[in-house]
Amino acid sequence: MNISIRAPIAGMLLSAFSFAGTSGAQEAENEKLSARERAIVPVAALTAKGDLPGLKIALAEGLDSGMGVNDIKEVLVQMYAYCGFPRSLQGINTFMALLDERRQSGISDKPGSEASPIVSDEAKYERGKRILETLTKRPETGPKTGANAFSPEIDVFLKEHLFADIFERDILSFKEREIATIAALTALGGVEPMLRSHMGMGMNVGVTEAQLRELLSIIEKKAGAKEAADGRKVLAQALGKSKAQGEENSANEYSAFPKGNKASSEYFTGTAWVKILVPQDETKSYSVGDVTFEPGCRNNWHTHDAGQILLVTYGKGFYQEKGKPARALSAGDVVVIPSDVEHWHGAAPDSAFTHIAITNNSPRGAAVWGEKVTDEEYAGATAGK
Ligand code: MN
Repeated sequence: MNISIRAPIAGMLLSAFSFAGTSGAQEAENEKLSARERAIVPVAALTAKGDLPGLKIALAEGLDSGMGVNDIKEVLVQMYAYCGFPRSLQGINTFMALLDERRQSGISDKPGSEASPIVSDEAKYERGKRILETLTKRPETGPKTGANAFSPEIDVFLKEHLFADIFERDILSFKEREIATIAALTALGGVEPMLRSHMGMGMNVGVTEAQLRELLSIIEKKAGAKEAADGRKVLAQALGKSKAQGEENSANEYSAFPKGNKASSEYFTGTAWVKILVPQDETKSYSVGDVTFEPGCRNNWHTHDAGQILLVTYGKGFYQEKGKPARALSAGDVVVIPSDVEHWHGAAPDSAFTHIAITNNSPRGAAVWGEKVTDEEYAGATAGK
């Protein structure tokens, strides 16, 4: 028997979760970009590309969608941080010419909002740092790394100028600013790491996965199919990362507790989710976790040096000790597993299964893992029950 000892699982806090009370139709509507957000996408993308005839059309559509002159101007100003003064100024000049033409043909465009004055007396660098923390959801602590360490100047310019001077102007929301940035970087191409991190920041300030897909379909129509295809590859990477981050506390339809993290395929056949509820009690005697097995999933043969107790809370499953028939389990069952007895537990082939596991601690770790439960062993144990 291959024996390996489970690595200690990092302690994680139990947190509450709830279901949103909105209707499906309303959720679908909320998933769409607003008219204003949709208008920002081609303005930013075509400014970044330097496609001035296309930009002129996008700017007119933005005004017609109800954006004020200042609101659109704010997008063009922000663009200088992402594609340089030349592109930004070309965009602003194009916009001025368009406004002149519209004035001459009798269209009166509304001015839009003004930025609120900044009243904080906190240093600009600190203000920028806090805005960046809001966008990334990561604390800006510890020594600077990467480009910010190599060039402390650019660290100051980014924080003081981009994230304080520009982002503090409340004409656009953080969500709208990230939509503009994602559109510009997608159109620009060749800046995948920045695009990926801005997709993450966008999601942190309320841009949904569906809205990012909508943004990319606008890019496809207005700025280019290749740019959109490259953007979709980056989105897949950004989602992989944010899904992994979101799993821990996501709702579990088979348990009152959050889903937790995917269990290691080294010790489980099929998909299981483990939420550690109590990493260790104060006497250091036991730990408590909630485990959900998807249908057909089971853990490897294993032993516990100091036993284990299972409290079954959902579905149908099995517990089997080596050399004995399997015991069928359902909600309400309690399994007391003796020390050093080789066994496995898992779901029935046609049902998900959730149990709380109270595992007594021992110096060798919570479990000593052995071979996988083969399909033949599993079929034999679960047949006819
Ligand atoms: Mn066990």
